[in-house]
Amino acid sequence: MKPVYSVVVPVYNEEEVIAESYKRLTTVMESMKEPYELIFINDGSRDRTAQIIAEFVQNDSSVRLLNFTRNFGHMPAITAGMEYAKGDAVIIIDADLQDPPEVLPNMAKLWKEGYDVVYGKRKERQGESLFKEWSAKLFYRFINSMVPIDLPVDTGEFRLMDRKVCDAVNNLREKHRYIRGLVSWVGFKQVAYEYVRVERFAGVTKYPLRKMMTFAMDAITAFSYKPLKLATTLGFIISLCSFIYMVVILWQWIFTDTTIAGWASTVGLISFTQGIVLMILGLMGEYMGRIFEEVKNRPIYIVHEVLGYDETV
Ligand code: UDP
Ligand code: MG
Repeated sequence: MKPVYSVVVPVYNEEEVIAESYKRLTTVMESMKEPYELIFINDGSRDRTAQIIAEFVQNDSSVRLLNFTRNFGHMPAITAGMEYAKGDAVIIIDADLQDPPEVLPNMAKLWKEGYDVVYGKRKERQGESLFKEWSAKLFYRFINSMVPIDLPVDTGEFRLMDRKVCDAVNNLREKHRYIRGLVSWVGFKQVAYEYVRVERFAGVTKYPLRKMMTFAMDAITAFSYKPLKLATTLGFIISLCSFIYMVVILWQWIFTDTTIAGWASTVGLISFTQGIVLMILGLMGEYMGRIFEEVKNRPIYIVHEVLGYDETV
């Protein structure tokens, strides 16, 4: 039977939470009284996550499992789920129950009222470190100041979208995928649904600082080349300052007999400008690396096993 809802759940080393997620998601989806499918994307977990889900697949015809060949990342996992999803509405939700599945019926109601995207907006975050909370807050505001389109703040991947939105996003073939940005970019009628993001049910975050930094860079570079323009602005400001400084020195040389200060200022200036030049070079490298990825045109992920599709495919 063709599902009305496809629930996409990326999982990476989630053996502690997966049984509970499955239970709560199933209860909620059953209560909605329409056909659904639960698509778990196992992003190269090294624990028992895949085995546990494989058991669900055997006992429940609504469950599917895609096994990646290795860890490709959160965004590639969601991408795969969106491509395999067959439902009229596609729901993206994390496995760790930070986004409570119990709000899904309300989100579905908004969809039935005619909204194409219902995105979860975090009213409050519970049980996360102050650092994570503030870095996230700053992150969303910073990104928004950098990109030309209006990206919703305090919004993660938790959302429900219509089939046509899912297809539109699937058609964007870029490799470094900042999915919440892509969903905004395609447009359509979007609405926020406010909820409280609670603590992880169990386990630890799979987003260490290193991954968060790459993620931030992906978000900015995918939607804006403003950082590159920084080079022009900084270059202009520095040249202007140097010019004024030269005028001052000249004036001192002609009209006063103060000796010009020693090498410290020279060294300071040189290292300052060198630092900036290097920073800009690095920035260009970030863009160049991403262009390189696009040109190579490798797949975003590789699936080596698909379970739970016996009847439909
Ligand atoms: N995840 C994934 N691949 C990764 C990292 C995370 O599929 O490389 C999944 C993870 O299992 C979870 C979701 O993405 O379902 C969000 O990760 P997490 O909860 O660790 O991130 P946080 O909520 O701390 O930002
Ligand atoms: Mg989480």
